[in-house]
Amino acid sequence: MPIFEYKCSKCSEEFEKLVFSNTVVKCPKCDTEDIIKKFSLFGMSGVEKQTSSSCSSCSSGSCSSCK
Ligand SMILES: [Zn+2]
Repeated sequence: MPIFEYKCSKCSEEFEKLVFSNTVVKCPKCDTEDIIKKFSLFGMSGVEKQTSSSCSSCSSGSCSSCK
């Protein structure tokens, strides 16, 4: 699920929100749409998973269980 991190440009409130294609993201504090999209937590975990999984046949990064 795409979870994005936002920061409000008006009151500097930082918040995370699940965003679907038709979602209008608003600040939970002051209800403005004037917000800054920071980065995706979903994307970050995906990168982390790619670098740690050196073996394709197991989920372990060290491959100690499949060698
Ligand atoms: Zn705000």
